[in-house]
Amino acid sequence: MASTTKKPWIRTPLIESAALSKAAGCRIFLKLENLQPSGSFKSRGIGNYMLRRLPDPASGSSGPIHFYCSSGGNAGLACAHAARALSRPCTVVVPLTTSALMIAKIRAAGATAVIQEGASWVEADTYMRLILMREAEKKGEKVVYAPPFDDPDIWEGHSWMMDEIKDDLDKVALDERGGRSEPEAVICGVGGGGLFSGVMQGIDRHGWGHVPVIALETHGTDSLNQALKRGELKAPTLPAITSRATCLGARTVCRQAFEYGQRKNVKSVVLEDAEAAMGCWRLADDERMMVELACGVNVALCYGGRLEKYLGRKLNAESKVVVIVCGGSNITVEELTSYRQEYGHIEKFEARNEEVPSTQSAPNGSR
Ligand SMILES: *Cc1c(COP(=O)(O)O)cnc(C)c1O
Repeated sequence: MASTTKKPWIRTPLIESAALSKAAGCRIFLKLENLQPSGSFKSRGIGNYMLRRLPDPASGSSGPIHFYCSSGGNAGLACAHAARALSRPCTVVVPLTTSALMIAKIRAAGATAVIQEGASWVEADTYMRLILMREAEKKGEKVVYAPPFDDPDIWEGHSWMMDEIKDDLDKVALDERGGRSEPEAVICGVGGGGLFSGVMQGIDRHGWGHVPVIALETHGTDSLNQALKRGELKAPTLPAITSRATCLGARTVCRQAFEYGQRKNVKSVVLEDAEAAMGCWRLADDERMMVELACGVNVALCYGGRLEKYLGRKLNAESKVVVIVCGGSNITVEELTSYRQEYGHIEKFEARNEEVPSTQSAPNGSR
């Protein structure tokens, strides 16, 4: 078999959104991580982690490598895509709760095997590590466990998106002759805290340590927010995940994220599922992109005066704000429609700007 290796992630565009800028009252730049091969930024972190574990061709030693991942979500999908880019086998073990859609997507991405086992992630993960990986090792495979968020190689992989953002904002400033390239805020979601840790690492690398970072969670996945309020990180922070934004649902964030979260420039913000859902349908209306709730929560901040409210100060038409469109594949047209049926009522209480496309459409068909 010809063994090729291709980088498992791509450089993504940073686009200025006219519609979201209008809604937010400042310049909104969208970092389109939804365009990654796996549909989320996880291609970067997991891709980098896996790339770094390939045997050094110079040494030529070690048995055939096989990647293992226990996630029915975007991490499993990122692992399957990365394994294919690296021409290596991968096995993804998912709990019985995983949707048929995600299983089909992980299979289609080229996973060598997708195995359903266990009622919860813990059971799936335990089965994979204690049974499958041990058996494979006995057969002489070099097994590599791909973690979703808690590893320096994951954070490093994510951090490079800040290099691209810096580069692109520099170009914007150059084109506009003398404008400042630095953003006035960066908006990103927090699950286990891998993305957030990578963003902070990248921000430090460019001397942007004073730039406000808004770290978003939903009620019911707010493990960073709760740990920061208590001033300590003890597992588990949350007794259970009670939000539909399951991709943000880590009961405890990684220590690195907790430490970054204590910085003065970080604002931890928690929104409702209804607001995250609104972010999803408005992004679909305004930019024709489908993302899951975990990403909609970031977009929601651009509407209804939320950005200034949570940033705690006024922005003007020139202020540049970067929203990380982290993506996520667990979304369908039908689900988007059902979000609007279920949560459309929140638009009745929104500060609306009728010039924004999404405010012209009818939640619940009621306008
Ligand atoms: C994984 C994921 C997150 C959360 O990332 P962490 O690194 O776990 O904090 C947010 N959004 C999407 C779409 C994801 O797939």
